[in-house]
Amino acid sequence: MAPAERLFSRWRDFLLTHSSSLRAQTMATIEVSGDGWAMVGDSAGLVDPITGEGLYYALRSAELCAEALLAHRPEDYELRLEEESFPS
Ligand SMILES: Cc1cc2nc3c(=O)[nH]c(=O)nc-3n(C[C@H](O)[C@H](O)[C@H](O)COP(=O)(O)OP(=O)(O)OC[C@H]3O[C@@H](n4cnc5c(N)ncnc54)[C@H](O)[C@@H]3O)c2cc1C
Repeated sequence: MAPAERLFSRWRDFLLTHSSSLRAQTMATIEVSGDGWAMVGDSAGLVDPITGEGLYYALRSAELCAEALLAHRPEDYELRLEEESFPS
C-alpha cells in the first residue's frame, strides 16, 4: 500500500472508530437522552464530520427535545431525531 493510501486508511479508521457524528450508525451507538437527562447539538455528536456544520443540528435537536419535554413524552426526542436525521 502506498504511503498516502496507508495514511488515508488510518485516518478513515480513526474517524470511524472515534467520531460520533452524523452517520446512520451514530444513532445506534450513541444515546442522546436517558432518565432525567438529554443532550443536544455538539454534545450529542450532531456535527457533520466533513463540512463541520453543526448549527442547524444544534438548533433543531434543541427544538425536538423541547417539543418532547413540553408534550411530557421525553422518550420521543431520540425517536424523532433519528427519524428526521435518517428518514427511511
Ligand atoms: C471554528 C468553528 C467554525 C464553525 N463554523 C460553522 C459553520 O460555518 N456552520 C455551522 O453550521 N457550524 C459551524 N461550526 C459548528 C457549530 O459552531 C457548532 O456545531 C454549534 O455551535 C454547536 O452548538 P451547541 O449549542 O451544541 O454547542 P456550543 O455552541 O459549543 O455551546 C455550548 C455552550 O456551553 C457552554 N458550556 C460548556 N460547558 C459548560 C458548563 N460546564 N457550564 C455552563 N456552560 C458550559 C460553552 O461555553 C458554550 O457556550 C463551527 C465550529 C467551529 C469551532
